[in-house]
Amino acid sequence: MHQEFLPPGIVILTGAGISKESGIDTFRDKDGLWTRVNLEEVATIEAWHRDKKKVLDFYNDTRRSFRAAHIEPNAAHRALARLEREYQGEVTVVTQNIDPLHEQAGSKNVIHMHGRDGEIRCMICSAVFESDVDLSPQSVCPNCQAVGELRPHIVWFGEMPLYMDEIHAALERCGLFLSIGTSGEVYPAAGFVLHVRRRAERAHTVELNLEATGSQPLFHEHIYGPATEVVPTYVERVLAHGWRQ
Ligand code: NAD
Repeated sequence: MHQEFLPPGIVILTGAGISKESGIDTFRDKDGLWTRVNLEEVATIEAWHRDKKKVLDFYNDTRRSFRAAHIEPNAAHRALARLEREYQGEVTVVTQNIDPLHEQAGSKNVIHMHGRDGEIRCMICSAVFESDVDLSPQSVCPNCQAVGELRPHIVWFGEMPLYMDEIHAALERCGLFLSIGTSGEVYPAAGFVLHVRRRAERAHTVELNLEATGSQPLFHEHIYGPATEVVPTYVERVLAHGWRQ
């Protein structure tokens, strides 16, 4: 039987660093969110049980900040959207980010493994809704009418990331794995490169980041610099010549 030849897939893991030049702070950099907010107080289930209003106010503010007029996709987001449009095989962006910049840049195949801004979930009935309005401890679930049980559909510290089966399937099909703007300190995302090297042995792996991370030795190739510079150049190279050095 005739089988259509499809080039190997490309999986791109992105983290807060890709959105930094769009004006969204990372977690762990010198001026990162962690220097201003104690995440234990806003991004854990314990925090939610302790003070719902504080947690919801933090995410209401985050949502508003993502919608500020000056927050736009940058050249790195746009280059990944171009890669998806022009590469003949499958391109999957697996992002740890909750911001909407990949989609705004035109990427279609995006997996938000830590959830995404604009979705909420009921803690009682587990229904997930699109929502762009502020939540408060008085908010009512449109599905089960529970009061004060709606939360952002975002993965907090200690919770299971979303879509892991889909992500592992994409990793096993891939011939190229890129890690862009992530410190490699948050698991399971930080373990994807090892998964690729075990399960898709011939895949090429590349770290693109502002500077070397602790995961550097796990990658075949390293490209350091601001994402808006190194990502468009790398995408151009892959589209023109492939990824073998
Ligand atoms: P992180 O803050 O731990 O690490 C960011 C990485 O990006 C660092 O290694 C840093 O060197 C690099 N970086 C900074 N500026 C860069 C630039 N201009 N170009 C390229 N690289 C740059 O972020 P993480 O690894 O993604 O993990 C933190 C967790 O917090 C993740 O779940 C993350 O998505 C989430 N978070 C999301 C957002 C967002 O949605 N935009 C923002 C902050 C944190």
